[in-house]
Amino acid sequence: MKSPMLPSEHHAAVQRALELGRSGDPAALPELIGMLRLPSNDVQRLGVSAIGKLAEFGADAQTAVATLAPLALSARHPQTRQYAIRALKKYGAAASAHVQDLRDLARNPTERDYVRTAAASAADAIEQAAQDAAAGVRHRCQRCGAKTTDDEVARSGQIFQRIFCDRCFDEVFLERRNFETQVEINKTIEARDGTLLQSDGERRIAEWLTAHSLAYRYDAKYRIIREFQIRPDFYLPELDVYIEYWGLDTSQYKMSMFKKQTLYQQQGKRLISVYPHDLPRLDSLLKAKLGLLGFAAGPKDTAP
Ligand SMILES: [Zn+2]
Repeated sequence: MKSPMLPSEHHAAVQRALELGRSGDPAALPELIGMLRLPSNDVQRLGVSAIGKLAEFGADAQTAVATLAPLALSARHPQTRQYAIRALKKYGAAASAHVQDLRDLARNPTERDYVRTAAASAADAIEQAAQDAAAGVRHRCQRCGAKTTDDEVARSGQIFQRIFCDRCFDEVFLERRNFETQVEINKTIEARDGTLLQSDGERRIAEWLTAHSLAYRYDAKYRIIREFQIRPDFYLPELDVYIEYWGLDTSQYKMSMFKKQTLYQQQGKRLISVYPHDLPRLDSLLKAKLGLLGFAAGPKDTAP
């Protein structure tokens, strides 16, 4: 559904929600709660996500949980439910009263798969957090589940913004370094804005985005989704949209492509796929696909 907000208001609200989420300021909570009343799924989704991000900075857990729980269970838009569930999970033991509701949601056959998965994972994590709190355990490795020391929490938090025990830290560090070295070696093509890319197709996408004033991050964030390495080609923070250019044609590449596309879908991510045969009509393709996600491209086409 299109938001009834004016595009400029919508844009400002989206930016504000992102900014407050990044602020690390627990005092932003009331403003974020106020923004959830705006008639936009995007703003709601980013708003609840921002409330989740403030958990570790000491935002008032009771207020946050009271706001997030109803949205987690019954927000109209499934992506909002998914984001609210993930945000709730970040408040850990403070959300204990909602574990049973989350379990019910996880078992609800009419619910989207990615919402059910998020609900099951949140219920487990909240229960674990409640047990840990009772036993005096403060942190666990997010990779193997081992109890972690304060030193381990500080070290991994600084490098990965996640909590790893020392053993997992070393393994993840190596995996990541090998992966990034390979990616950097492959980046040999330069777009007009100076970004180094891996293929001519990616260069055309980058230049189209620049020509249409769409901010993007190229290949910025390495993440692991269910043990699978994902490094999106393009991420558009204003629209919360990923663009992947699937440039190769080998069977191994196609298997990995199919797996990645499925993961995006299961995670409820909004992905636009571009293939080599799309390049001659790249402009109309991106306009149409982004248009469906709420982006209005200007009439002028300055893309290559
Ligand atoms: Zn570990």
